Amino acid sequence: MNDTLYCGGCGVKIQTENENALGYAPKSALKHEELLCKRCFQMRHYNKNTAVSLEDDEFLKMIGSIRNTDGLIIHLIDLFDVNGTLLSSLPRLVGDNPVLLVANKVDLLPKSSNHHKLKNWLFHLAKEAGIKVVDVFLISAKSGTNFNQLQIEMDKQRKGKDIYVVGVTNVGKSTFINHIVHNATGIKQAITTSYYPGTTLGFIEIPLDDQSALVDTPGVINEEQMAHYVSDADLKLITPTSEVKARNYQLDNGQTLYFGGLARFDFIRGEKQPFVCYFSNRLHIHRTKLENADELYDNHLGKLLSPPDEETLKVLPTLTKSTFKIEEGYTDIVLPGLGWITVIDGDVTVEVHSPKGIAPSIRRSFQ
Ligand code: GDP
Repeated sequence: MNDTLYCGGCGVKIQTENENALGYAPKSALKHEELLCKRCFQMRHYNKNTAVSLEDDEFLKMIGSIRNTDGLIIHLIDLFDVNGTLLSSLPRLVGDNPVLLVANKVDLLPKSSNHHKLKNWLFHLAKEAGIKVVDVFLISAKSGTNFNQLQIEMDKQRKGKDIYVVGVTNVGKSTFINHIVHNATGIKQAITTSYYPGTTLGFIEIPLDDQSALVDTPGVINEEQMAHYVSDADLKLITPTSEVKARNYQLDNGQTLYFGGLARFDFIRGEKQPFVCYFSNRLHIHRTKLENADELYDNHLGKLLSPPDEETLKVLPTLTKSTFKIEEGYTDIVLPGLGWITVIDGDVTVEVHSPKGIAPSIRRSFQ
């Protein structure tokens, strides 16, 4: 007898023939106690909305529809990759709706960081990008740091309306939403649309009360992000998983630091002084003389200077040089998606080599 089977998530009729059609489940899944279609399986286990590119018209239409709604926008960014995750196109996408800028992964910053200074910097960056921010929060979706304060503020700011969560892929949007769902419902499991039917814009909606919902929008792919230029293995290595430890180098001018082989820092002019590096604790920093730096790179890239691994080497853009004259001490040179170097004394000229498309920038240190 051939029983008709249904997905335990969305109720669609299960079929095992066409992987790209609705209701597909591999034959091996039919034995599982709870049968899910591929789409629900992926949502449940990876908790992923399908990611979309900013270039994608369909997506722009979807996100752009937020412009015509009335709600609160949560723009989630990654504190370790602010430049790669702050969406400068946000005002175009969400119109006049108020924005709370929520910077995630605060657990990765050194404990000594000055959160007040950090928030000021984020306010400033958002303003420069033309994003009108009501408030900035530093949170950890993983550990729950500052989550209660944020939830109080969200409730205050949304004035009974919907909340839209917008962010680049990998900022921790799924973790964030799960945390909220868990707080609201006690459900620990990842969400699927089936729990929350009635999606209007093709987004996942999670009811907050009878009138309003928290809306999960698809993760935006930012092509110019370090994460897209490295293999999965290298991405694991350069992404910090615990508080980054300061690594202090006393350098004379004429010395170079390599961050694996992904970026390079040359001390060109200035008195001997400390440079403090904040990168994934697993990323090897190699110190050498400037005069030997090119040869080292030519002969040891992918070996002594790794990552890149073999896979990354195939896609990694060439390094391009940026020069910074830094007068004031306590200035950070930021390598988006990798980390930053704090210049302690100042009055220096340095050159930074980073993969083309990943432009370094400077900011006041928030130590
Ligand atoms: P999404 O693509 O935006 O939905 O991001 P995910 O929720 O899948 O998270 C991406 C990665 O960041 C995962 O490895 C998470 O474990 C990690 N992550 C998410 N939130 C935090 C956080 O607050 N702190 C740290 N250290 N990692 C986080």
